[in-house]
Amino acid sequence: MGTIICQICTNTIDHFENEKVSTLYGQCTCCDKKQKKAYK
Ligand SMILES: [Zn+2]
Repeated sequence: MGTIICQICTNTIDHFENEKVSTLYGQCTCCDKKQKKAYK
């Protein structure tokens, strides 16, 4: 099983089915909001 981890706060966002065990980095909704605020 693969895991999607937030690259900012390292929380686990989601899991996905994968033959290999792997980790993907993404952004949780919380950090996504924070970053959008910072862009204004
Ligand atoms: Zn996050």
